[in-house]
Amino acid sequence: MIVRFIHREELARPLTEALFRRQIQAAATGDVAKEWENFRKTVAGNAVAERLAFMAGTRARCYYCSDSRGTDIEHFKPIVGYSEEAFKWKNFLYVCTGCNRYKSNKFPVDSLGKPLLINPTWCDPWRFLFLDTATGVVVERDLGGTLDPRAVETLKIIKTLSTEAAEEGRSRVIRRLAYAAEEVLAGSNEAKVCQRLAREVADDDFGISRWFAIWDGADEAPFSLIRTGNHSVWRSFVRWSTRRY
Ligand SMILES: [Zn+2]
Repeated sequence: MIVRFIHREELARPLTEALFRRQIQAAATGDVAKEWENFRKTVAGNAVAERLAFMAGTRARCYYCSDSRGTDIEHFKPIVGYSEEAFKWKNFLYVCTGCNRYKSNKFPVDSLGKPLLINPTWCDPWRFLFLDTATGVVVERDLGGTLDPRAVETLKIIKTLSTEAAEEGRSRVIRRLAYAAEEVLAGSNEAKVCQRLAREVADDDFGISRWFAIWDGADEAPFSLIRTGNHSVWRSFVRWSTRRY
């Protein structure tokens, strides 16, 4: 997902330096968009994209929707309006063509200038969003009468989060994880059922296991029953669900 926290790795020094040089060059020429386009075609530009794809895990899914494969570097703060961030590693996300099109140059901020779009490399998106595990639908988190404004804006802009395909993808992972969890509860061979649960967590491209391990889903059966009844399996489940790629 967006509904998936992405841990940002460090960038190798030569690439950081290449980006820095381009930023200076762009400031000198004044045509930042053109400079970016040129940089993207270079070996360093490709290496930066590869680093971002690596951060997305084995299937290199889009940082926003998690449903499609990421294809290109996205500027969280758009080049238009934030040209000084155009070559900053921390400003890069890796997204699919659909999300790229929806996001485009949009970058809403609140009255203090803070971004209203969720950045999945800053913190876990489940902080702002709520997962209906019966349907796979993601909605805004209710902050006691008002909906989280970051979730409102994000769901409004990144329409790919609410497509039938994304909901079905999340539902599939929810079913598989729940099935594996039920096996743990019923299982006689703990090592085997744990292995299966670990495999389902590793296969989860949507960050659903984090929902069940450390967010509201931890209170939902069958996960709540493992949490209260089988502490060692629960500890492993939390560890698998929160580890970096
Ligand atoms: Zn996407």
